[in-house]
Amino acid sequence: MLKINKKEEPEFFSKFKKKEKPKNWGDFDFRLKNELKEYMLENEQKIGKEKYCPYCELKILLENSQIEHLKPKDKFPELFSNYENFIVGCVDKKTCGQAKGNKWDRLFINPVMENPQEYFSYRLRTGEIIPKIDDGLEYKKAIKTIEILNLNERKLCDYRKVYINQIINISKDLKEEEKIGIIKYFDEFPTLKEFLIENIEILK
Ligand SMILES: [Zn+2]
Repeated sequence: MLKINKKEEPEFFSKFKKKEKPKNWGDFDFRLKNELKEYMLENEQKIGKEKYCPYCELKILLENSQIEHLKPKDKFPELFSNYENFIVGCVDKKTCGQAKGNKWDRLFINPVMENPQEYFSYRLRTGEIIPKIDDGLEYKKAIKTIEILNLNERKLCDYRKVYINQIINISKDLKEEEKIGIIKYFDEFPTLKEFLIENIEILK
């Protein structure tokens, strides 16, 4: 899960709200939502040249993404137009925003307010995302967030596992700095990449 550094609400969005006085999410038309997505992807969710789903960390594009209300609009109707509450997520049917739906829990890690990297780690053998800390509130928050977003969905774990194994195979017998160079070359799963670089000694 990626940290989102939220920028100022874009002017076109503030103007629209002031002029049209939308009362619910349906009052925002397709064009405006698209413009919002573009703004967020470009300014808040881009690493290098790529844009990512903050939840699963796969690459997304304008065309295969959706605006996601961090606090679901069914449960927090007053936040339907609150810019701080928006991110752009993937449209996978089994994970992320689609898995989350209108579920909410106070333990959910909000990537706008907190740094998810303080909560998550990886199990390289299986490709699972796991809590970084073994007990206490941090542990509970990590477990709950993984559950709500279904971040250990089988296909997603398999994909991470293949990714990890590819890196292990290519970087076998190389020097540490060469291994790091290889990892940097890959462009999906940014926090998994950082995890591998921080724990480079485990890539034997
Ligand atoms: Zn996703």
